[in-house]
Amino acid sequence: MFDVLTRIWVDTSGALYEGAVQPALYALGLMIWADRVQEWLDFALLGIVQIVLVYAVCRPLEAWRPVEDVTDGKAVWTDVIYTLLARLGLLPLIAFVLLSGAERSLNGFLADAGLVPPTLESLIPGLREAPLLALLLYVVILDFGEYWRHRFQHMFPWWYALHSVHHAQRQMTFWTDDRNHLLDDAIAAVWFGAVALLIGVPPVQFVLIVMLRQLAESLSHANARLNFGWAGERVLVSPRFHRLHHGELSAGAHGRNYAVLLPVWDWLFRTADFDRQNYPRTGDKKAPESLATGGWLTQQIVGLKELGRALRRRDAG
Ligand SMILES: [Zn+2]
Ligand SMILES: [Zn+2]
Repeated sequence: MFDVLTRIWVDTSGALYEGAVQPALYALGLMIWADRVQEWLDFALLGIVQIVLVYAVCRPLEAWRPVEDVTDGKAVWTDVIYTLLARLGLLPLIAFVLLSGAERSLNGFLADAGLVPPTLESLIPGLREAPLLALLLYVVILDFGEYWRHRFQHMFPWWYALHSVHHAQRQMTFWTDDRNHLLDDAIAAVWFGAVALLIGVPPVQFVLIVMLRQLAESLSHANARLNFGWAGERVLVSPRFHRLHHGELSAGAHGRNYAVLLPVWDWLFRTADFDRQNYPRTGDKKAPESLATGGWLTQQIVGLKELGRALRRRDAG
């Protein structure tokens, strides 16, 4: 199955590159950038597929059962810009290039030292014959890592200074998923990539997991009155569950419902909140107003200023 997906992907991306992008680069005398542009094209294509998929799933749900009316369209447009920058932009590319470079040098170093880093497949040989089980295990382990990253984002004031960009939104829709400070995005990419490398997730599975995760994350931000029932809420993160995380009561160090995909972590580590409020108002009352209603650039600058303030407070205390 993974082989077929890879072939379809490589063929589509290759045809697009050879049919449209390469001639354009040639005409503009920019062939020197060909490799970089080809890498970027792969990311951008993946990003477009993601956005289309997410839109097709989430938009009808938001139209069907909205939690609240959209009264601030500008705030939603800011989140659309975040999404386009994150999924079509250069950041994922930079993270990937940096990480694969780091992996190559790390592997080279280990090989020179005569060490082969263990992967999940080498620790549990049976996994090689059960690709779906392996995929499931990767998802669970990566999700565990994401739970703790998110908990740390709320636990350390400097990190929350960045994460408050995500929480300041009072008009939450499925576009809000990518509303993050660039620096926070970079940390997240390194964190997620490092866990994936550590357990040896193969590239195709990695891409599939990222797509699946982002679909689930976008859905969990949707402006939709949707829960998965008493048991379902405890198995998979629903829009209701994550809206509780974005409620005013859950900002900063008082966070609840950190899980990205599997609420079991909140349940296990006693941070779950299934009924403190039902579809609360979202936002962070302590965040500067410009983080809620400012444009993309304003939010990035204010996020940095908040980071500086948090670090100075830490040093003074
Ligand atoms: Zn949070
Ligand atoms: Zn969120």
